[in-house]
Amino acid sequence: MKLVAYPLAALLGFFGVMFVVSGARGQPLQIIVGVILLVATGAMIWLALHKLKPSVTTVVQKIDLSGDVNLQELTCRACGGAIGKESVAVRAGAVFVNCPYCSAAYQIEEEPKW
Ligand SMILES: [Zn+2]
Repeated sequence: MKLVAYPLAALLGFFGVMFVVSGARGQPLQIIVGVILLVATGAMIWLALHKLKPSVTTVVQKIDLSGDVNLQELTCRACGGAIGKESVAVRAGAVFVNCPYCSAAYQIEEEPKW
């Protein structure tokens, strides 16, 4: 993460300064682009320093686990058809089902305990 982020941040920062400098010669739009690039540079350095990798890994592990447990006997709420792994999508930590039979779409609980 860090190895990629720093050269990328340096490149973005370089282009940001270039845009601002050339924009100062009468191109207001380029100044805006330059400022956006410099903000992106700052964000990238911040991300590299506060590496978000551990939290992402935790989320993925949690989803994998509940996915394996839940998908064994997963049936559609609307039509009762069997739902395979290809009909399940994970978005923002929640599991969403798109039924291939009746095209119902809904969110399922992580671990239903009957
Ligand atoms: Zn269905």
